[in-house]
Amino acid sequence: MSKIAVVGAGTMGNGIAHVFAMKGHEVHLIDISESALEKAILTIAKNLDRMVKKEKISVKEKKATIENILTFSDMSAGVKGVDLVVEAATENVDLKLKIFKSLDEAAPKKAILATNTSSISITKIAAATNRPDKVIGMHFMNPVPIMKLVEVIPGYATSKSVTKKIMQLSKDLGKVPVEVNDYPGFVANRILMPMINEAIYTLFEGVSGVEGIDTVMKLGMAHPMGPLQLADFIGLDTCLSILNVLYDGFGNQKYAPCPLLVNMVMAGKLGRKTGEGFYKYTPGSKDLVVASAFK
Ligand code: NAD
Repeated sequence: MSKIAVVGAGTMGNGIAHVFAMKGHEVHLIDISESALEKAILTIAKNLDRMVKKEKISVKEKKATIENILTFSDMSAGVKGVDLVVEAATENVDLKLKIFKSLDEAAPKKAILATNTSSISITKIAAATNRPDKVIGMHFMNPVPIMKLVEVIPGYATSKSVTKKIMQLSKDLGKVPVEVNDYPGFVANRILMPMINEAIYTLFEGVSGVEGIDTVMKLGMAHPMGPLQLADFIGLDTCLSILNVLYDGFGNQKYAPCPLLVNMVMAGKLGRKTGEGFYKYTPGSKDLVVASAFK
């Protein structure tokens, strides 16, 4: 597969474009927001610079990677002639169904349509298209250039040959793919999100503060990042959407999102990407500062 379209240029989309472009694929990065596209290219360049500094890639490789990425605000134009689409737009069922219906109409008939969804049913997304055998989950982890895992999720109708191709492609990207079944949250988020939600409940109920909770999990469980910092990193809107998919999908109260998470999302405090969540983020600073709402 040589030409890849990535739909959505946010947190995940820019990382996915980065890894494909570094392996020599022509990448069409598509977003409805011009500013998201501009920000994505700047982020990719910054991340590549870091790799040059660490002598992981040469300046020439950096230049070639950037040149492999073309940006589009029109989806039909962006998917022309591609072999694979990886959709990484906002985690919202209705939006994904709409995008896949359009992708099915606009992308070449032979193209595989993959989604980076964290939790939404692949079978449901596939059913919005006339090619459910070519729709699959390809779930990268954040930050994509660094994290090795790809959860590969065939839907009910996904063909074995498509699954095999995506498993191989993930390996070719230097990742370790794990094939899992299509149930809400798959494996990664079925386990991770209840932990993050419980951390937010622990804060909500005043058991401990932001730093206390994250320190317990970092030092006590050897997690590289505390759950509240991780929630900020993922995006609180994304966490809430995933929890809602788990809650609706299993009908079990244990997945009900903490009211504090719901409130923070309503207030637009979405974590790192908006500059504030449980912590406050200042561009250029690596200091972890607890947001004033939690001091
Ligand atoms: P994000 O909010 O950072 O970015 C989403 C992007 O999608 C935005 O730039 C938005 O403008 C764009 N978008 C919205 N509607 C669109 C449309 N119709 N066409 C094209 N672009 C559109 O979100 P994200 O964190 O990058 O998440 C993207 C997907 O990846 C979600 O499905 C999420 O569940 C999944 N995911 C996220 C993480 C994470 O840690 N954030 C990890 C793994 C998977």
